[in-house]
Amino acid sequence: MAYQALYRKWRPRTFDAVVGQEAITDTLKNAIKRQKISHAFLFAGPRGTGKTSCAKIFAKALNCTNLQDGEPCNECENCKAADQGSMNDIIEIDAASNNGVDEIREIRDKVKYAPTQGKYKVYIIDEVHMLSMGAFNALLKTLEEPPEHVVFILATTELQKVPATIISRTQRYNFKRIDQQDLVKRMSYILEQEKVDFEPKALNIIAQVADGGMRDALSILDQILSYDQDSIRYEDALKITGFADQEKIENLLLALTDQKTDQALEIVKQLLDNGASTKNILDEIIALSVKVMLTLKGNEDQTFFIEDYQEKIKTVASERFFKIVDLANQALNDLRYTNQQQIPLDVFIVKASQDMVSSISDKQVVQSPSEVASLKKQLLELKQQVDSLLKTSQNSKLSTNSNFSGKIQDSFKPSNKKVTEPTSAPVQEQKPVKKKLNTNTKASQENNRKQVYHVLENATKQDIATIKDIWPDLLSMLEVSKKAVLGVLEPVAASDKQVVLKCKYELWFERANKDNSLINELESNIATLTKHNYDIVLVADSSWMQVRKEFVASHKEELLAKKLKKIEQKEQEAQKDEASQVTAEEKKQVVDKAKELFGDLVTIKDE
Ligand SMILES: [Zn+2]
Repeated sequence: MAYQALYRKWRPRTFDAVVGQEAITDTLKNAIKRQKISHAFLFAGPRGTGKTSCAKIFAKALNCTNLQDGEPCNECENCKAADQGSMNDIIEIDAASNNGVDEIREIRDKVKYAPTQGKYKVYIIDEVHMLSMGAFNALLKTLEEPPEHVVFILATTELQKVPATIISRTQRYNFKRIDQQDLVKRMSYILEQEKVDFEPKALNIIAQVADGGMRDALSILDQILSYDQDSIRYEDALKITGFADQEKIENLLLALTDQKTDQALEIVKQLLDNGASTKNILDEIIALSVKVMLTLKGNEDQTFFIEDYQEKIKTVASERFFKIVDLANQALNDLRYTNQQQIPLDVFIVKASQDMVSSISDKQVVQSPSEVASLKKQLLELKQQVDSLLKTSQNSKLSTNSNFSGKIQDSFKPSNKKVTEPTSAPVQEQKPVKKKLNTNTKASQENNRKQVYHVLENATKQDIATIKDIWPDLLSMLEVSKKAVLGVLEPVAASDKQVVLKCKYELWFERANKDNSLINELESNIATLTKHNYDIVLVADSSWMQVRKEFVASHKEELLAKKLKKIEQKEQEAQKDEASQVTAEEKKQVVDKAKELFGDLVTIKDE
C-alpha cells in the first residue's frame, strides 16, 4: 500500500479526536444532539487548526443514522460513505480552484433537490474567501433563502476577505492556534500508534515551527519519516525545521560573549557548510543580540531555542551586545567592498570575541558601591601614574604615544581581582610600559618598512606567482581558527628568499606579527608546498600602500635614468630626435617593470 500522509491517515473522525478546539467541538456536538441546526456555518482560523476536519465530522454527524451522543458512529452506511468521500449528499468545493460564478450557480440550481442518501445536503466550501465577487453574490442569494434540508459550511483562513453580507448570514466559529502542548500530545499519540520511535525534544521543536497548525506538525513528521522510516530524531527535526541554524546562532553568540574564538569560528564554518551566507549569519547575530537586549531590559516574552538561554545571557553586560551589533554592522558594511565574503565575518568573530576583554563596563566590576569606590581610587592613582610617566617620557620624546591608554586598561585587568589592595600596583608596572612603548615606536615601523623595501628590491614575478599558486592549498592545511587569519593576509610580493604578506586589517597586523607560532607554521607550510624557503614579512595595508608608492617613485627615477642614458646613446648613434615618443615609451617600460614586480593585480598610477 502506498504511503499515506499522517495528516490524512490521522485526520480526526470524531469531534473528541479534534485537538485543541474543545469549545467549538462541544458546541457543534450539542447542536447535533439538540437538532438545532443552522443553515450556514463559517469556520475561520489559521491553517491546519481543524476547520476542514470539523466540517467533515459535522457533515457526517448530520447524516449519521446511529448518532452517539452528538458524535457520528463511523459504522453506519452513511458514515462509511462519508469517510470514503463517496457520499453524494456531502459536496466539498475548494474555492481556491473553483472560484467561478458557474460553480456556485450550479450549487444554487442543485440545492433545491432533496438529499438522496441522508437527512441533509451539506456543502463544504473551503477557502471561501477565494470566491469571485460574482460567486459571492450567487452564494448570498442561496444563503438568503436556504431550503430546509441544506447546510453550508464555509471555511476560511482569511476572514477579512469574506464579505460582511456573507458573514452576517452565518454562525461563526473562530478556530484558534493549537497549543504546543496539545500538538506534542497528538504527535506522541500518533507516533506511538504508528510504532515510530521518537525523541520528545524533537516533537517540541516541531510544535514550535508548526505554530499552532496540526497539519504542519504532521507534515513535518512525514518529511522526517521520509528520510528515516522508523524514528523521529532531534537532529533531524532541527535540520528539517531550519532550527539547526537558529540553535547554532544562539551558541555562536554565547561563544562570542564567552570569548571562545575557536568555537565561534567552528560554528561559523558549520553554518556556512549548511548553506548560510555570511550576510545571513551577521543578520541573524544582530537579530538575536537585539532579542537578548530586550530580554535583559525585562521583556520576558522572548523565547530562546536553547534551554536556560536566558539564564546564561543574564550574566553578560548588555553593553557587550551593543558592541556586537555594532561590529556586525561594520562587517556587513565591509562585505559590500570585498569579493572574499568570509573575511569580514571572520574578522567580526575575532573582534567580537576578544576585543572587549578589558571593558570596564563589565557587570562584575561595578556591582557593589564599595567596589565602585575602590575603582575610583585606582583610577585616580593611575591618572597620577600616567601624569608622572608623561612628564618623564617627554624627555625621551615619546609623550604622544597612544599606548598610554592601553596601559590604563591593562592595569585595570589584574586589579579587578585584588580590589582590596589597590596600592600594590604602581611601582611594578612601569617596566611593561617601557617595553610596550619600544615595540611600537617609529623605529620598528621603519624597520618593517625597510624589510618590505628589501623584498621589493629583489622581487620577481616568478616567486609571487609560486606563492599565489600554493595559497589555496596552504589554506586547507591550517586549522579553522588560523584559516581566518590567512584570509586576512594576501601575498603581494616575493623575492627568492622572502614573501611580503599584506595584512588587510591593522588589528590583525599587530596580532599576527606577534604570533610567532603562526608565522612559523605558515613558513613551514609554504616550504612544504613550494619546496623552497621563504621568510614571511608582514605589512599592514596602509604601510604597504606607502612603501609601494615610494618604491615605484624611486625606481621610476632609476629606470628613467637608465633609459635616458640608453636613449642618449641611441641618439648619438642614429642622430635622431625622438624625445617626445621616447617619453611615452619610457613610462610604459616603468609600468611594465612594476607589474613584473608586483604581479598583474597591481595598477600603478603615473604621478
Ligand atoms: Zn453513523
